[in-house]
Amino acid sequence: KQILLKEYVSYGAPTTNNFTFSDFELDESKLEENQILVSLVLVSVDPYLRGRMSLAKSYAESYKLNEPMISFSVAKVLKSNNAKFAVGDYVVDGFPWQEKSIVTPSPFANKVDPKIPLETYLSALGLTGLTAYHGLNEIGKPKEGETLVVSAGSGATGSIVGQIGKIKGSRVVGIAGSDEKVKFMVEELGFDAGVNYKSPNYKEELAAACPKGVDVYFENVGGDVSEAVWPLLNFKSRTVVCGVISQYNRTTPDIGPRTIELYILKTSSLMQGFIVSNYFSNNPAAIKDLSQWFAEGKLKDKHTINSGFDQIVPSFLSLFEGTNTGKMIVRVSNN
Ligand code: NDP
Repeated sequence: KQILLKEYVSYGAPTTNNFTFSDFELDESKLEENQILVSLVLVSVDPYLRGRMSLAKSYAESYKLNEPMISFSVAKVLKSNNAKFAVGDYVVDGFPWQEKSIVTPSPFANKVDPKIPLETYLSALGLTGLTAYHGLNEIGKPKEGETLVVSAGSGATGSIVGQIGKIKGSRVVGIAGSDEKVKFMVEELGFDAGVNYKSPNYKEELAAACPKGVDVYFENVGGDVSEAVWPLLNFKSRTVVCGVISQYNRTTPDIGPRTIELYILKTSSLMQGFIVSNYFSNNPAAIKDLSQWFAEGKLKDKHTINSGFDQIVPSFLSLFEGTNTGKMIVRVSNN
């Protein structure tokens, strides 16, 4: 089975109609040099894939029509013509949404350490962990005693951002879309406070949770959720613009109160766009720290795992409804 992109999404939310589900025959007998035959085990579905399903200019290349969707995944090697990967190894890389594939691993392909849970390679020690680490280290630079606010704080990236903030000694406030998620951020992840942006008193509650203002804002959401953050920015605050998920599926431009520049001006603050791949040269240091924190139990990774190849698309679509806590992953097979 495979999942192809049938139609680009020009605006609005993607639907199952954007994809083709088909059966295909794979000739497993022919492996060229460096190729491996793999079966998909765990698939990461991520909001940024929405950008690749469009022809709009962006930082990641658009998918090609009638070709398989690709995302970071863990796959098991069934046959190998590659010295780096042996039969039975588990490999993390960008893999096509196909039950089985013949691929040449990318330069970023990594063999999984069997002592670490497979799903962690798609969360704390994967792209998500790197996004949180590089964004905070390179732009946010949280210091001890400062206030760090993170939107989508119970999600894959946000949950790691907040925990790294705690490791750095900051006061961490998470914003999320339900009271259960607020409870999760505070009670399970150790954030100092959480605020539900769907509460009728959201603005007041956020201000109350940040009595000393906001020094670092890790932006994952944009729109109204962030509009409440700008008046709280402190002198020389840093905003890491990692994502604006509230904007990805809009059918009309979001024109709200245009106050952001005034707040940035008044506070001499920095606001910087952030794309994780621009910082991949620092991955060895990031993986070293993240692995150590993970081993010491300072970094917890939470997953929402759905099972079955047929769940890949619904799981991806449901990211925009906030059904996940932690990293959304689809388990395609059990080994
Ligand atoms: P998450 O696990 O955080 O999942 C997305 C979450 O966003 C949902 O659980 C939901 O939580 C929240 N959300 C969805 N729609 C809305 C909305 N309309 N308004 C407010 N909140 C919403 O995903 P990721 O950690 O993978 O991604 C988080 C952000 O980081 C995204 O914006 C993504 O594009 C960005 N990103 C950027 C990268 C980069 O290099 N710049 C790399 C990776 C991710 P809730 O219930 O709280 O609403």
